[in-house]
Amino acid sequence: STSNDNGFERYSEIDNSNEKRVAAIKQLGMDKDDWIATEKVHGANFGIYSVDFGKGLRYSKRSGIMPPHEHFFGYHVLIPEFQTQMAAIRKYVTEFVVKASPHTIIVNGELFGGKYTHPNVPKSKQTFLLNGKPKSISAVQTDSFPQYSPNLHFYAFDIKYRLQEKDDAVTLTFDDATSIFERIPGLLYARPIIRGPLDKVTAFDVETFETTLPPLVGMGNFPLKGNWSEGLVVKHAKRGKIGWECKGPSIIKIKCVAFQEISTDRKQGP
Ligand code: ATP
Ligand code: MG
Repeated sequence: STSNDNGFERYSEIDNSNEKRVAAIKQLGMDKDDWIATEKVHGANFGIYSVDFGKGLRYSKRSGIMPPHEHFFGYHVLIPEFQTQMAAIRKYVTEFVVKASPHTIIVNGELFGGKYTHPNVPKSKQTFLLNGKPKSISAVQTDSFPQYSPNLHFYAFDIKYRLQEKDDAVTLTFDDATSIFERIPGLLYARPIIRGPLDKVTAFDVETFETTLPPLVGMGNFPLKGNWSEGLVVKHAKRGKIGWECKGPSIIKIKCVAFQEISTDRKQGP
C-alpha cells in the first residue's frame, strides 16, 4: 500500500522535463500519445479527504494529514465550501466512476493566494475562529510573481479513491476527474492549457505564459504586469487508467526560467 496508518496518501513528486526524460518518453513511443498540460500553480500542496464512506473530512499538507486545529495559511476559511463540494464530488465519483461508495475519496490540489500587489486591490480581511480565537489567513505567496489573489483559494488537480480503508488508492484519469470537477459549483480546477502529442505541448512557450488564475478568482479587472505563471504540469491522458501499463513517466513539469530564478524553493533537481 502507498498510504500510511492514518490513511495519508503522499502526492508523488513530479520530475522536471529535460532532454533526457523527453528522449526516454520518445524511445518508448509514448510521445505520440495524448498529453494534457495544465497551469502549475505555485502554492502549498493540499489534500481534502472524505473518509469513512462520507462521514468526515480531513485535510493534509505535503507531509501528512493535519490535526484539526493546525493553522495552515488559514485554510479553515474554506471549510464551508469544501464540505459542500466534497459531498457533491463523493456523489459523482460513486455514481459515475466507481459504482459503489468508496471508503476514502481524496482531492489533491494547491492552496494559494494571500498576496496581490495592485493599488486598487485591498489586502484580505479573511478571518476565522481557531479554538475560539479569531485568526487571519497568511500569505502562501511570498515571491514577486506569480500573484493570484489577496484571498486564500484552492485549485484542484487530482481525484483518488480507496474502496476499502486499506486498499491502494486509484487515481482518476484527467478526463474522468475533469468530468466531475466541472459539475461542482464554485470549484476551481486545473483546465487544459494545451493538449496533444508531446511535441506540441513542449512547443508551448512557458517563458511568456502569464498566469490564468487571477481572472478566475475575481481579479480580472486588476491585471499585473509580468505576472508569469510558474509553468505547466503535463499528464499522459491515460495516467490512472485501470489496466494501462505505464512504461515511462506519465507526469512531468515544465517550469519557466524566470520563476526558477526568483524561486526560493531549491528542489529543482535534474
Ligand atoms: P513544493 O511546493 O513542495 O515546494 P514544488 O512545487 O517545487 O514543491 P514540484 O515537484 O516542483 O514541487 O511540483 C509538483 C507539485 O506541484 C505538486 O506536488 C503540486 O503540489 C504542485 N502543482 C501545482 N499545480 C499543479 C497541477 N496543475 N498539477 C499537478 N500538480 C500541481
Ligand atoms: Mg509547489
